[in-house]
Amino acid sequence: MIDFGDEYIYTIINHSNDFWRDVFQSWLTMIRAMDEKYSMQKLNSIPVWQNTNMCVGNKDIYVKTWYQHGVKIIGDFLDEDGNFLLLQDFSQKFRLANVCTMQYNSITSTISKFLKTLSVKRSDVKKNCTPFIPFYFEFILLNDKCSKVLYDMINSNDLIPKSIQKWNTELSVHLEGNVSVKELFKACFKTSTDTQVQWLQYRILYKLLPTKYYLKKISIISDDCCSFCKENVETMQHMFMSCSYTLALWNNLSMHIFRKTSKRIGFNVSNVIFGETPRSLCNKVVNFIILYTKQYVFNCSKQNKIPHITGLIHYLSFKYKVEKFIAIKSCEVLKFDRLWENWKIIFDL
Ligand SMILES: [Zn+2]
Repeated sequence: MIDFGDEYIYTIINHSNDFWRDVFQSWLTMIRAMDEKYSMQKLNSIPVWQNTNMCVGNKDIYVKTWYQHGVKIIGDFLDEDGNFLLLQDFSQKFRLANVCTMQYNSITSTISKFLKTLSVKRSDVKKNCTPFIPFYFEFILLNDKCSKVLYDMINSNDLIPKSIQKWNTELSVHLEGNVSVKELFKACFKTSTDTQVQWLQYRILYKLLPTKYYLKKISIISDDCCSFCKENVETMQHMFMSCSYTLALWNNLSMHIFRKTSKRIGFNVSNVIFGETPRSLCNKVVNFIILYTKQYVFNCSKQNKIPHITGLIHYLSFKYKVEKFIAIKSCEVLKFDRLWENWKIIFDL
């Protein structure tokens, strides 16, 4: 694994169990992020084999005999000045007999092309003293705590999780442009410190919530009918928005807020699933209400209860009191009161 590129990891993902598939998938995300960020600094230690950056005829390269003789990285093909080794010198260096000229030339020209895409002159690729630290492992081996390095690296590329891409496609008619992933996660994690509701939103964004549709898909249950209307399939979008019962709940909530505060807050599939963006003080309260309403709806579905506006307001009121208690404990009650000044009236029935 140390010696190979991304294509190798991609291949073994499919032959692993769930645990290792997750591990390798994260590793793949990391090394692809790393390629872009760090390849300029460590060009000669980039692995050549099974690396999608270096393909011959759309296929990654791997020559087993060469690998067994120690050929692994770009630097193995270069001399001290960054020139490609002559075939004879290459064969001698790695004690290889009968190296095919065409094969050697096609591999070196692939490496050359790769360096050109990075706009790097080969003469700038100076060789490090061996032994080298494997390219992808350098940042792990040189840091006592590597988790932060890995975390920053994965986040620095603004990678959009597959689940968010799916949401984008499913909700494309309701969304204006693509949603910002960072904003989505902030809308969920900066709204409340309550891990229960953060966890709920995290599972919604990653499409991991155990709705009946999901449970049937993984063969836990056989009936995927909505817990409320018993008519449609209980997907997340249905349960949180399009079911007639939840739709009525959101409409009643909207009317209740208007009656109490004269504020017109509309709930739609986009702000219900993702939360209201951009983040602002007003949206913070709206996101609080949306998050806990979803938690309430989800709890109702688990308990086979029909969601109702009175139950919801009691639930929101209780969560508001908990949040206020936390604010008092952390000496932030003034800030909290300012935030809720024009909103707390909604808890009066
Ligand atoms: Zn339903």
